[in-house]
Amino acid sequence: MSADNKFVFGIDLGTTYSCIAYVDENGMPTVVKNMEGDNTTPSVVFFEDENNVTVGNVAKETAVIEPQKTVSFVKEHMGKDDFDFAPYGQKISPEEVSSHILKKITKDASEQLGTEVRDVVITCPAYFGTAECLATKHAGEIAGLNVLAIIREPAAAALSYLTRHQGSEKTVMVYDLGGGTFDVTVMKIGSDGAAEIVCYDGDQALGGQHWDTAVVDYLKDTFQEQHSDMQEDDWMPEDLQDLRIKAEKAKIELSNRMQTKVTLNVAGRRAQIELTREIFDSLTQSLLSRSLDCTDRALAMAIAKQKSAGESVEDAVFNQALEQVQNDSQAAAKGIVDEILLVGGSTRMPQVAAALTERYGLEQQILDPDEAVAKGAAISALAEYEGRVEHWQEQQKNGSLDMQDEETKEEAAKYQTAAAVKTTSIPGFRNNKLSIRQAVTMAATKSYALQVVVNHEEVKCQNLIIKNAKMKNGEIVVTQRFGTDEADQVNAQILVYESDLASEYFEVSEIDNGNADELGTATLELPGNLPADSPLDVTFKLTQEGILEVSAKDVTNGGEISVTMQATAGSMLSAAEVKALKEKSKRIAVV
Ligand code: AMP
Repeated sequence: MSADNKFVFGIDLGTTYSCIAYVDENGMPTVVKNMEGDNTTPSVVFFEDENNVTVGNVAKETAVIEPQKTVSFVKEHMGKDDFDFAPYGQKISPEEVSSHILKKITKDASEQLGTEVRDVVITCPAYFGTAECLATKHAGEIAGLNVLAIIREPAAAALSYLTRHQGSEKTVMVYDLGGGTFDVTVMKIGSDGAAEIVCYDGDQALGGQHWDTAVVDYLKDTFQEQHSDMQEDDWMPEDLQDLRIKAEKAKIELSNRMQTKVTLNVAGRRAQIELTREIFDSLTQSLLSRSLDCTDRALAMAIAKQKSAGESVEDAVFNQALEQVQNDSQAAAKGIVDEILLVGGSTRMPQVAAALTERYGLEQQILDPDEAVAKGAAISALAEYEGRVEHWQEQQKNGSLDMQDEETKEEAAKYQTAAAVKTTSIPGFRNNKLSIRQAVTMAATKSYALQVVVNHEEVKCQNLIIKNAKMKNGEIVVTQRFGTDEADQVNAQILVYESDLASEYFEVSEIDNGNADELGTATLELPGNLPADSPLDVTFKLTQEGILEVSAKDVTNGGEISVTMQATAGSMLSAAEVKALKEKSKRIAVV
């Protein structure tokens, strides 16, 4: 590869493993191996000291010796304020930890290909809300990357699928069981080859690591039975780390074999424990069932949406569809879905295909389990980059660029060089009139509400955007007129919430119960002399990146406010903090 060739990259930043891909000179989405020669890198970070960080397999092994300096599963903490990690007295944010993973895999890809890795698209799960999506973007920026976009994992999987799909219209269900999370998505592929996401469901705490935990518990109990003199505190943190690594290995072996043996040495005692696939399947039965419950719900939502013909889905219609799925899962599934696509490393467990066949009787296709998402992200990165190059060239031609403005100059400089390959070279898009940007129509992955006073007495939350609503041209914009509650109000407070609740209204108690998260508050100043019920227009705009922008207008006087909710969510880093962390990151060596 010539170093002059410009490539852009897609990154699957996973809970347990991460992966990077690009579209090669022949238009093929291709995974780049890390310096250890593996297609995926464990998302494990070891903080040796303030200036040295190790990521990947070595970190995973070091975790056995120094668990207090090692972070695994950091993705679970993105956008939340529940992460307490200070390996050398200084608190480290989830964004920083993730930035080291990104640095390691981009640095390795750069060395492998002999080219710069700068422009990337990073994926995040469907269930990620505004705060989590933004934290992912910040992680990329801290790593010194130019984050072209954040895209949803199911959309990336859909793009990967479209490179292979030929011909007919069909409805596909993507069952994506990764290391830490489970996502199920129903999508329609049209006659023009475009994919439309119909609905999502999933479980944020269901993935390969939970299967590992079931094995850990079993091995520990069995060891304990064989050495009844063992006390709970004889298990040192390093023993538990070692046990976890062995449990995952045993699980992976059982995907190809009917039995395996695990040897443990703990506190001077030894045991060799046999684990059969049958025992493994029974230990993890309840986890598998949870994934099927989500899958039932996704199917029910797809059926309910079809019945509701584009209108929002009433609870009663959904419940009726769910009953239909639960009563005869095979008939219901076959009535709406043509095939199931398996994505995510954990779908290699034979129990997954067996359970899906038994429950739904549908044909399954395995789509590069560990790589489909990164490859889809690479396709999206190329489309995004191409779009930016065109945009800046056009601006330059029109003479509408203000090159005195430093920011404009900096931005334009990023898109001077066209990519080495065109999106039209990618199979599936080669002879297609469809552009990649139009290839996948997303649906909202969360609902967005504001607090309202109904009939001047009851406080409720009203969803303006409802989960699974279609995102036309990559966004949803909803404007609704409200009235002031009282005469002479000096301002109107707009309290905004994000949730999975799908009804138009929900009770405020849902917030206290943890079913809806406050995203932020916007205050619209009013002149103070308006009668009650004076019109106020509130607009919610949800972008494809999962970021909500809120604006409000006092219709009588024309006063307006506009806020991007990202800025107000509690745990978010400010732009200045991101910049400072980016500087700090430059001083840290990541291997
Ligand atoms: P992903 O995030 O999609 O890369 O999935 C990672 C998860 O897949 C981890 O929990 C791995 O232990 C699991 N995994 C990878 N390969 C296998 C396999 N052959 N059998 C079972 N689980 C696997």
